[in-house]
Amino acid sequence: MELRLHDTLSREKRPFVPLDAKNVRMYVCGPTVYDFAHIGNARPVIVFDVLFRLLRHLYGDARVKYVRNITDVDDKINDRAARDFPGLPLNEAIRKVTEQTGKQFHADVDALGALRPSVEPRATEHIGEMREIIERLVKAGFAYVAEDHVLFSPQAMNADNTGLPRYGALSNRSLDEMVAGARVDVAPYKKGNTDFVLWKPSKPGEPSWPSPAGIKAEGRPGWHIECSAMAWKHLGEHFDIHGGGIDLVFPHHENEVAQTCCAFHQQRMANYWMHNGFLQVESEKMSKSLGNFITIHELLADWPGEVLRLNMLKTHYRSPIDWTMKSLEESAKTLDDWYRLAADVEPGRPAASVVEPLLDDLNTPLAIAALHGMRGGDVAALAGSLRLLGFLSASAGQWESRKQQASGVDAKEVERLIAERTAARSRKDFGESDRIRDLLAAMGVAIKDSKEGTTWEIAR
Ligand code: AMP
Ligand code: ZN
Repeated sequence: MELRLHDTLSREKRPFVPLDAKNVRMYVCGPTVYDFAHIGNARPVIVFDVLFRLLRHLYGDARVKYVRNITDVDDKINDRAARDFPGLPLNEAIRKVTEQTGKQFHADVDALGALRPSVEPRATEHIGEMREIIERLVKAGFAYVAEDHVLFSPQAMNADNTGLPRYGALSNRSLDEMVAGARVDVAPYKKGNTDFVLWKPSKPGEPSWPSPAGIKAEGRPGWHIECSAMAWKHLGEHFDIHGGGIDLVFPHHENEVAQTCCAFHQQRMANYWMHNGFLQVESEKMSKSLGNFITIHELLADWPGEVLRLNMLKTHYRSPIDWTMKSLEESAKTLDDWYRLAADVEPGRPAASVVEPLLDDLNTPLAIAALHGMRGGDVAALAGSLRLLGFLSASAGQWESRKQQASGVDAKEVERLIAERTAARSRKDFGESDRIRDLLAAMGVAIKDSKEGTTWEIAR
């Protein structure tokens, strides 16, 4: 069976044919590093990690290049830096914020079992490429300078009939309707109300770089140009897959396509555009004001990362996902089962019943159903299939202690209480042994007595 992927641009599932099977190339928009990442941000990380693993399985580990950027220049970063480090010069404070949040992000996504991408470029290290693309766009008449800004004109793009894609094609919008429906209070320096910023002047104290297109004042890039520049540098003018959350289709990805295709005169930027659906929490939109905003970091205090990973993959990546406590508890039970069955088994080839649904546009719910069906069957194939999906990163023993860590239960204390209870039972002091059992239950620990002795686990 061949790999088929859903493409947002053509709005259909198509067989995946790489431009070069020896160098399969994927770009995914990464985080803006100003705060802890929330559980919604974990969705593209996990979904595209599964795709990365599947592509490596199909084409070979060394033949897949996955680029996920870090956006380290942004107003939100500047605001955070000024708030958290008021005594420091802004640029120093910004470096502190981006370093700290970058580290937190890595710790979080490592715990989710996501492989590091092949390259993790930072926007601030690609200003030269951004300037180069902007220069090309101005020269070719798709962008213009106004009051120290450089603006891109979607109308100039659509007036060109020499083989460029149409602005609006990716997000399925008509430029005429966008023009008619645009806000009336657009910035006075814009010639058209749908023109967007490629470069803008920096305010005093803000990060700034020499500007392109003959602008004297120093400035900084707009958001969209960053991804065009980093994708170009690491993957070229035209590559295989571009991904991100559904919220990025417009304007971010529409504008990336416009910039890249107009600068390099390409009909396409990526051959497949893939977007994950949104995540909501207990049936509500996640937001700080509703008090249901959860960070990956907070969840990892209560659950091993693999539980979060499984919980994410139980829903198909294009569907919306409802993140609930109940579902997390079920995911934890499932993983307990898999760890018990397969963690210490030498992995075999992944089962066809698991790989085939993945080949069908990453149908992870069906792959997980197949894994459930393998209970009692070929354990080596189960172990290999679980590893393909990024599970069983630990041994069974490590899994137990990870769960204990996440639950905040002190394993040594539990062992001590169990020994005390065993002693009480052997002297037939059942009052005391019941008291200790209740104490353990109150700590969230369930015990089981058998001929071999007493075992325990975290009760959820
Ligand atoms: P941001 O840092 O907001 O640009 O988001 C980083 C990535 O997370 C992007 O690919 C977003 O589309 C994605 N994302 C943000 N919020 C959610 C959410 N609630 N559900 C799914 N994906 C999200
Ligand atoms: Zn991007």
